[in-house]
Amino acid sequence: MSTELTLDPRLVTLTVRSGISIRRTLPHREIKTIGAWCFVDHYGPTNQLQAMSVAAHPHTGLQTASWLFSGEIEHRDSLQHIQNINPGELNLMTAGVGIAHSELSQGTSVDLHGVQLWIALPEKARNSAPEFDHYANLPIFDHDGATIRVFIGEILGHRSPAMVFSELVGAEINIESDVIFSLPLQNSFEYGLLVDTGEVVINGTAVPEGSMRYLPTTIDSLSIETKSPARILLLGGVPFPEEIIMWWNFIGRTHEEIIAMRQDWESGSARFPTFVDASGDRIPAPAMPNIRLTPRGRRKPLQ
Ligand code: MN
Repeated sequence: MSTELTLDPRLVTLTVRSGISIRRTLPHREIKTIGAWCFVDHYGPTNQLQAMSVAAHPHTGLQTASWLFSGEIEHRDSLQHIQNINPGELNLMTAGVGIAHSELSQGTSVDLHGVQLWIALPEKARNSAPEFDHYANLPIFDHDGATIRVFIGEILGHRSPAMVFSELVGAEINIESDVIFSLPLQNSFEYGLLVDTGEVVINGTAVPEGSMRYLPTTIDSLSIETKSPARILLLGGVPFPEEIIMWWNFIGRTHEEIIAMRQDWESGSARFPTFVDASGDRIPAPAMPNIRLTPRGRRKPLQ
């Protein structure tokens, strides 16, 4: 049985032209997934031009969810979509059997600040045709001293139209200073509360900015006490029941599948059609490690 835990971020330098450092809270040494959420990168605010300019690269077996607090990014993909994303909007890309995309920061005067999230696709959906959707009209409502914008799933009857393939929730919660905010939780869900900004105490524990508080299933309510205005990202879902292999930008189930995905990208296979963008670059896959890839397991036992 997992317990409540604070996941401190790892600093990772992205292989992008400006090489900004991002804060990665998932996967974590002890927690690999929260529901089907399997990857959380938190970045900015930064005024570096091209801070998040990531040239063409492939994905399989997952959905990417791009969410901004400020700034603007242009998405292009191998289905030939071109879509800018702004704060409060969701770009949701379903890789399925395979897609390639680029995300290029736009040179606005506003600092870039947001999260890049991945959602593991369950067996029934992981080999589906790729798809890309942009959601500009998402539910937003006030509750208990906070404003909540739901981008995935449903909270208090407010439901996002975004298409996902497992029981999942994702929301941005902006809370006033000096309140005790409370929200009922679904006790079949586990949750991660990522503190973007603010001095907060989550269910009795102070959680620093940049860290994520993990709440296991069976917890019925969330309480967030604020000593300053706060912005929290809430992610949750029913624990993901399948074992997955995450390697580079791919999610598969076996070593051989990952080799085939990598080979298809390196050889320019029709699995990942080409597209044009302002970068013109293409990120090559890293070499396979000299070991057999195996699922890492959902949880390591806590020490
Ligand atoms: Mn990507």
